[in-house]
Amino acid sequence: MKGKPGIATDNQGFISNAGVVITDEGIVVVDALGTPSLAHKLLGEIRKISDKPIVKVIVAHYHADHILGLQVYKDLGAEVVAPTGSEKYLNSDVSTNRLEERRVSLFPWVDEDTRLVFPDRYIDKGESFQLGGVTIQLTMVGDAHSDADLMVYVENDRVLYSGDVIFEGRIPYVGSANTKHWLKVLQEMERKELAALVPGHGR
Ligand SMILES: [Zn+2]
Repeated sequence: MKGKPGIATDNQGFISNAGVVITDEGIVVVDALGTPSLAHKLLGEIRKISDKPIVKVIVAHYHADHILGLQVYKDLGAEVVAPTGSEKYLNSDVSTNRLEERRVSLFPWVDEDTRLVFPDRYIDKGESFQLGGVTIQLTMVGDAHSDADLMVYVENDRVLYSGDVIFEGRIPYVGSANTKHWLKVLQEMERKELAALVPGHGR
């Protein structure tokens, strides 16, 4: 589901992208969008085409515009996984202050019932897993756009969900970036042969 890239409070908070991988054995969601109502909306879209369980939500990085929908999937029993290093954001005032701010700036879509959902599992290094015959690779990027970024590659379709390592249509948020490492990551990515690349924001 594709948000309109803009400032975080535009478009009812729908400014980032989320991905869905539907298999015969279950569904993987990549990023959770910026409000619970957006996550519900995506869930509604998923349910039009599949009634399989949402088994996993992969958080490419912890920033409010990608994670405040997590509780919707967590409450359905999905496993939430995220890169090691995300705990820096979660354990700092930044995450709680940002949530408080969004409860005002994105009210009523973010409200008192909106909560920070921590990962069930942190990923330290790259791994891949199979679900319903689909192979999904998780690549650890480290600190580039945020304290901890990862990318999700759907091998069967050669589709890459880059998270906020790639922004399209707006200037990247660099408030917690390591730009030197980020540029290195981008140079390495140019070698990959992809059928499609889904950025964290934009087309
Ligand atoms: Zn971000």
